[in-house]
Amino acid sequence: MSKKLLGNREQGLLFVISAPSGTGKSTLVDMLLEEFPHEVAESRSCTTRPPRENERTNHHYDFISHASFQEKIAASEFLEYAEVFGHYYGTRRQEVARLQNEGKHVILVIDTQGALQLKERCEAVFIFIAPPSKEELATRLKQRSTESESEIEARLAWAEKEMALASHYDYSIVNDNLEITYQLLRCILVAEEHKTR
Ligand code: ADP
Ligand code: 5GP
Repeated sequence: MSKKLLGNREQGLLFVISAPSGTGKSTLVDMLLEEFPHEVAESRSCTTRPPRENERTNHHYDFISHASFQEKIAASEFLEYAEVFGHYYGTRRQEVARLQNEGKHVILVIDTQGALQLKERCEAVFIFIAPPSKEELATRLKQRSTESESEIEARLAWAEKEMALASHYDYSIVNDNLEITYQLLRCILVAEEHKTR
């Protein structure tokens, strides 16, 4: 029987992707979801951050109140959670299990604090995406124009701390040329699916 490039497993794998804000991780993950809509799924996180103008519920996040987030922590609903730039973000345990049980590879786009919690807790493939330079990161954040000047400064300062953690990941790739980076990311998923475990 001919095999597909991806999606041949009964139980999907877990891929944890981190990158400093503005590097291009959402762009890259959207490309993966477009090419492999039935084989790959992104787990939708809960956050206490207010939605941006172009965001709505049922997209990347469930936007919930601080009280509701605390209730979910108390009920152990999160596989991991962290405070990032003054807001809470968390991955729902049940959502990840449901998608994996459907045979889909699950992508978690989470910060380095959350990724390091998961390293000790579950089997996953950890991928770090770095910007080509600090200057280019600043340019991308400014061009995206979703944060204020002070928010951009905070993201750039935090980026330095995140970059120092890249060595804890299984793979580290630089998002310089978007198409090449996408091909690298795609190759990692394909190779990992065919790895003997
Ligand atoms: P993140 O999810 O990591 O915060 P985004 O995916 O929102 O980052 O990307 C930030 C900005 O950089 C977006 O405007 C996006 O179009 C742009 N971008 C992403 N990858 C590249 C690239 N390789 N070269 C140039 N611009 C890029
Ligand atoms: P943003 O608000 O720009 O969408 O995301 C800010 C940061 O929070 C990014 O680094 C993003 O990867 C991270 N993030 C998003 N969802 C989660 C999550 O569920 N858990 C953790 N730990 N970080 C998350």
